[in-house]
Amino acid sequence: MSLPVEKNKIYEVTVDSLGSNGEGIGRIEGFTIFVEGALPEETVKVLIVKLKKSYGYGKMIEIISPSPYRVEPRCPVAKFCGGCQLQHFSYEGQLAYKARKVKDDLERIGGLKNLEDLPAFGMENPWRYRNKAQFPVGNGKEGAVEVGFYAKRSHRIVDTPVCYLQDAVNDEITVIVRNFMEEFKVSAYDEEKHKGLVRHILTRVGRNSGQIMVCIVINGKSIPYSEVLVERLLQVKGIVSIVLNVNKEQTNVILGKKIITLWGKQTIEDSLDSITFEISPLSFYQINPTQTEVLYNKAVEMADLRGEETVLDLYCGIGTISLFFAKKAKKIFGVEIIPEAIEDARKNAKRNGIYNATFEVGAAEEVIPRLYQEQGITADVIVVDPPRKGCEQTLLETIATIRPEKLVYVSCDPATLARDVHFLCEKGFQVVDVQVVDQFPMTIHVETIALITRVDK
Ligand code: SAH
Repeated sequence: MSLPVEKNKIYEVTVDSLGSNGEGIGRIEGFTIFVEGALPEETVKVLIVKLKKSYGYGKMIEIISPSPYRVEPRCPVAKFCGGCQLQHFSYEGQLAYKARKVKDDLERIGGLKNLEDLPAFGMENPWRYRNKAQFPVGNGKEGAVEVGFYAKRSHRIVDTPVCYLQDAVNDEITVIVRNFMEEFKVSAYDEEKHKGLVRHILTRVGRNSGQIMVCIVINGKSIPYSEVLVERLLQVKGIVSIVLNVNKEQTNVILGKKIITLWGKQTIEDSLDSITFEISPLSFYQINPTQTEVLYNKAVEMADLRGEETVLDLYCGIGTISLFFAKKAKKIFGVEIIPEAIEDARKNAKRNGIYNATFEVGAAEEVIPRLYQEQGITADVIVVDPPRKGCEQTLLETIATIRPEKLVYVSCDPATLARDVHFLCEKGFQVVDVQVVDQFPMTIHVETIALITRVDK
C-alpha cells in the first residue's frame, strides 16, 4: 500500500498535539508526522526526512501560521539541550496544553463524557524551581571540561553554564568544579571508553532549609586534591554536605551505591508544610517543592479526612504523602518497592512524632492483594501515586474489591490514568474531581490528581 507522503518531498501539516519528547504531531491524510520544534495549532512546511510504515518525521522548514503561544526561549541552548522541551511555548500555552491533554485522554481513553474544561495550577514564577540537579561532566577540546546536560536523544553534552530550571546556586557550584578539574587536570569520565574520573555533579538544595548538598559521582574511590575542592566549595553559602558517590559500572544509571563523605553530613534536611525530611543523595524526593505542596494539599482536600479513616498510601516513596495525611487520619499504611525509601519513610515518621503510620516494602500489586486475601484488609481512602506505567490490573482489581469510599489518584501520565479510570468506572466507581498541577514547567511532563469515589454510597 502506498503512503500518502514521500521522502524528500515538502508538505504542509497542521500540528495538533505534542509527543513524548515535546515534538509536534500532525497528520497528512491521517498519516502521523512528527515535527521537532512545532507547536499545537501551528501550520508548518516540512521536508519529510524519514518514513516508517505508520509514521514519519518532517524537518520544519517554515512556519506558515505560528501558534499564538510561540515565544523566544530564555535559554540560549534550549534548541539543542534535552533538559527541557517547551521553552518555545509560552507558560500560559504550556498550561493550556497540559490541561487539554488530560481532558482529551480522560475522554478518549477513559471514556468519560462531557468533562468541563480543567484548570491547570501553574507556578507564579515557572523558573529555577528544581531542588535537584544532575549535570553530566565530559571532556571538551584542548583540556577543557564540559558540564551541562545531554543533547536531545543523545549522550553528547551540551555545555550549560546557566540552567534556568535549577537553583541559581548551581551556576556557582558547577564553575568551581569545572575550574578545579581544569586546573588540577582531574579527568572527566568518557562513557564510550569507560575511562576518566568525574561522571556527574549532583546537587540538592533544601528550598525551605537552605541546606545544600554537592555530590560528585566518580569512576574511582577518591578524587585528587579533594581538600582544595572542599575548601573552594565551602565558599558557597549553605553547603552542609560534600560527598563522593562511587559508580564504576559501565551504565547509564547515574548513581552507584557507595557514598564517601568529604565534608559535613551525608544528608540534607528540608520541609514541606510543617513536616521535615532527611534526604540522602540516593532517595527519591519530589523535585519541585512549591508545587508539591500545592499537589499534596489538593490530595488532602480531596480525601477530606475526619480523623477516623484508615488510609493506604501506595507507591509511597519516602512517605511524604503518608506524613502529610497522618495527623488527619486514624491509621496510614504505606507500600513502596524500594527498601531504602521505606527506611527513610520510617525514620521521617519518627522524626516528626508520627506513630500512626506504618510502612512495608514490596510491589503494591503483590502486597495489597496478598494482605486482602490473608487478612481482609480494608481502607476508607486509598492514595496511589504510581510511576508512568500506572497501576497493575491486579492492584486495581483488589482496590475495586476493597471498595474504599475514596481513591485519590496522583498520576504523572494522563494516558495511563485514563486507562485505569476506565477500568474503575466499569467496577462501580466515578471520577468526581480532576486537577492538573504543573510540577514540571518548560517540560512535557503532566501531573494530574483525580478524586474517584464509589458510586453506591
Ligand atoms: N508518593 C511518593 C513517591 C511517588 S514516585 C512521593 O510523592 O514522593 C513513585 C514511587 O513508586 C517511587 O518511589 C517508586 O520507587 C515506587 N514504585 C514503583 N513501582 C512500584 C510498585 N510496583 N509498587 C510499589 N511502589 C512502586
